[in-house]
Amino acid sequence: MDMACVLCGSPDRPTDEDVIPKWLLRAFDVQCPVTVNTREESGEPQTVATRRTPKVILQGGLCGECNNERLSRLENAVKPILAPMARYAQPTALDLGSQRLLAAWAIKTIYLLELAIRQQYPGVRPVEGYQPGIAEMGWLLDQLERRPAAQIDPPPRSMAWLGCWNCEERSVINYAPSSAPLPTRDGGEVVGQFTTLALGFAAFQVFTVDYVEAGRRDAVVWNPRPPDSISPALPRIWPHLLGAGAVAWPPAAFPNGEFDRLSSWDGALRRGVA
Ligand SMILES: [Zn+2]
Repeated sequence: MDMACVLCGSPDRPTDEDVIPKWLLRAFDVQCPVTVNTREESGEPQTVATRRTPKVILQGGLCGECNNERLSRLENAVKPILAPMARYAQPTALDLGSQRLLAAWAIKTIYLLELAIRQQYPGVRPVEGYQPGIAEMGWLLDQLERRPAAQIDPPPRSMAWLGCWNCEERSVINYAPSSAPLPTRDGGEVVGQFTTLALGFAAFQVFTVDYVEAGRRDAVVWNPRPPDSISPALPRIWPHLLGAGAVAWPPAAFPNGEFDRLSSWDGALRRGVA
């Protein structure tokens, strides 16, 4: 792995990034196994790793400025909102600004998590997760430089939902990436991601794509909605629906045994069904 910062490209002062931030690990205060699941539309979920320690490190992945300043500001903005939700499922009224902030944070975390998993488990998964492109990382960098952390916008074309999964305080990190192809006008496709990341009780789902490539090739907008069977349990937090207001989180929780149902949108996202 080259040592340039994955966010800004600087070769200076590479640092190790705790992809699952220390403040979140501290909130869980127990040494829990971390299950890393991968899922493709056509297959069953596969566990690639179960670790005794929930640390997930991107070694040498970020320069000091990105790690300790840019992303640190974002972590500090998110921490007071997310920590009690993830740890205790604490009922929280999420205003529009908090929804946007959590969406941007989740997308950032999923980008870096995939890079860390690739680094730690090279070749282990039959299908790897989604690697963010230059456009998406560049968008994040630009937002982090130009705006207060609490006001950054997620990348164009990205979407995010925030459900509640009953982690039962034992399986605190579950990651299930899958690909999400967007058909293009030229008959091809631009492949984005639909990824579930459950951190304690907070179950994020995000869609992202190389929005520059998707725009250049006139790709369709990825805009499904969860099926009626689960849509009340998956409020969308980004982009805001017309007339949307605060989200009262948590919605009804997905039972511990139903992570698969959550990550596949009750089967609707499996190949040939959606
Ligand atoms: Zn950097």
